[in-house]
Amino acid sequence: MARWDEILSLPVQNPPTLEFSSGEIVWSKVEGWRDKLDRVALIPFARVGDFVRGESANKDCPTRFHVEARRRRSSSASYKPKVDGILEYILYWCSFGPDDHRKGGIVRPSRNTYVPKKKNAGRPNTKRGCTCHFIVKRLIAEPSVALIIYNNDKHVDKNGSPCHGPQDKKAAGTRAMFAPYISEDLRLRVLSLLHVGVSVETIMQRHNESVERQGGPCNRDDLLTHRYVRRQERSIRRSTYELDPDDAISINMWVESHQSHVFFYEDFSDNDPFTLGIQTEWQLQQMIQFGNRSIVASDSRFGTNKLKYPLYSLIVFNSDNKAIPVAWVITPRFSSADAHRWMRALYNRIHTKDPTWNLAGFIVDDPAADVLTIRDVFQCSVLVSFWRVRHAWHKNLVKKCTESEMRAEMLSRLGQAVDDICKGHGTVELFEDCMEDFIDASEFMDYFKAVWYPRIGTWTTALKTLPLASQETSAAMEFYHNQLKRRLLNEKNPNVYQRADWLVDKLGTKVHSYFWLDEYSEKDDFARYWKDEWVSGLTSWRKALKIPDANVVIECKSAKVTDQLDGDKTYIVRNPGSQFGTCNCSWADMGYLCEHMLKVIKVCREKGYITSSISLLQYSQTLMDMLHCSTHDSLIRDHAVSLAMLPMLQPEKLILSCHSGTSGQVVVGLVLKWVCSSSHNNILYIEISDKLRERRVFGQNKELLNEKEKKRKL
Ligand SMILES: [Zn+2]
Ligand SMILES: [Zn+2]
Repeated sequence: MARWDEILSLPVQNPPTLEFSSGEIVWSKVEGWRDKLDRVALIPFARVGDFVRGESANKDCPTRFHVEARRRRSSSASYKPKVDGILEYILYWCSFGPDDHRKGGIVRPSRNTYVPKKKNAGRPNTKRGCTCHFIVKRLIAEPSVALIIYNNDKHVDKNGSPCHGPQDKKAAGTRAMFAPYISEDLRLRVLSLLHVGVSVETIMQRHNESVERQGGPCNRDDLLTHRYVRRQERSIRRSTYELDPDDAISINMWVESHQSHVFFYEDFSDNDPFTLGIQTEWQLQQMIQFGNRSIVASDSRFGTNKLKYPLYSLIVFNSDNKAIPVAWVITPRFSSADAHRWMRALYNRIHTKDPTWNLAGFIVDDPAADVLTIRDVFQCSVLVSFWRVRHAWHKNLVKKCTESEMRAEMLSRLGQAVDDICKGHGTVELFEDCMEDFIDASEFMDYFKAVWYPRIGTWTTALKTLPLASQETSAAMEFYHNQLKRRLLNEKNPNVYQRADWLVDKLGTKVHSYFWLDEYSEKDDFARYWKDEWVSGLTSWRKALKIPDANVVIECKSAKVTDQLDGDKTYIVRNPGSQFGTCNCSWADMGYLCEHMLKVIKVCREKGYITSSISLLQYSQTLMDMLHCSTHDSLIRDHAVSLAMLPMLQPEKLILSCHSGTSGQVVVGLVLKWVCSSSHNNILYIEISDKLRERRVFGQNKELLNEKEKKRKL
């Protein structure tokens, strides 16, 4: 009994890294069988996979661990409540063992059906009698915890000599120097390249070239074989999305075989609709890396008119501020009660991996989004993005109004109405006036009346209550939306759009591959990457930063932007300085905010022709509110000043010297000038509004805590 008391009192270790190895946890010695001491540790059961991966990536002796034996107690079986009862027992063994196929090695009798293959000098057998292994036990007493017993942690054979890796002299020059399989990164790279149509030959050619350049193989990935790549290609070619003629059964089968890609699944029931949440391991990693203390945005209702069920994407932004989809949710209905369940599941999944993960802000693109649920689950600020509506208006004006000046004027009026509402003094009447004034442009106004007028009320409320996401974020979301459209909705036979199994399959294979490759630095080696369907490259915001000021000439009602490559080509931007402008380039013709409009906005702002953007105004307002709080609250004032100083500590741009006597207001003013030219609005806004919220809820929390404390004592 003493042994179990000791084990159950050990701390559960949960390192905040994606993978971790035995070197990163503390091991305890506990009395085991026959008075031997066992080396044990406790980790969350959900993280056993992370431990196995981390342990496989051992720097001194890379390998892989496989499940050598597994026993599970069936859930229905009754059991005596014993302290040492186990639900599950898994034995992991180094893949270079336990058998030994080397000359004179021992193979267990049960495995002696093995017939040695014709050997190739460079590739001797993988089984080399390695004794390294560990045991994972899931206890009945603590099912969420895994007990690891790790007594044989050296990669040696039964004689105690190294039997693979750099320490093993006999392994030199063979595969046994390296881990027995290619890395997860290379596996995904090969799969992604195949999915987007790069040939086996091209993949192998590029691979061999790079191994040659570095002077021969020096790690496991350098030993990628033609055979492996060909096998993958064949299995992709032979697979089908239609696992069953019945779409619902087919989806069920997909979920069964892709458990690790599914974070939430519920079939239709009397009360709830079908909901499927997809997130691959790579997407989870991206969400942890780029979402932590940063922003997640949602792109909702994608393909509402085309697909059987619309698609909801959650995206994060990488260092170039380009969107990466980190989860996809497919469901026929997006109502608040349903969202709570999958959001909680997603949050829990991330927190299992990284308990310190925190979101700074969540951007919604739908005024009906359940803000309370988001705040409840993610504990962060919620912002709203207007890109979808601006894009729809712009796109439809291009289609339905051929007169370019009229088009620009209408867009300007609509934009003015939105700005006034965001600033807090506009109402729905502004749109009613628009509809009256532009009665001549009947085709667009009919569309506006039918589609947007009924929703304008909810949008007005959302714009008045939630801070607006920045233009840079809008540009990134537009870019993502366009990428998804080109990568997903490019089928020759549109009938497939009416099957959900097709959608699930295409997201998990082709679409996932495109986004994976976007992040892969050597993608440019593949000519196919430059094909139109990839739409790679920078967002229009980032492109705008590259246009020199000299290329922009601002006139009264329009601006001219000279093309960077072709000096004879110019673009005409109308409504200069407004995001509700127009431009005659192809990107703007599709209704998107183009780099020319964004560059003109930047120039206008620098020259003082226009005031700050709405998101910046909202940011400064919050900062001022903070500074104007009552004098006795010096903590919050200090915080406002230090937050205002924060962007100045960042490199480049305006360097200001601030003397200790400078008042908060002056600092804020100067910093706002700086922020005008930068793209940090969202984060800054969130940091500051978070602090305000914290202060506001502080009092309530204290009461709650007191109450909890009272209950506990009872
Ligand atoms: Zn080993
Ligand atoms: Zn343009």
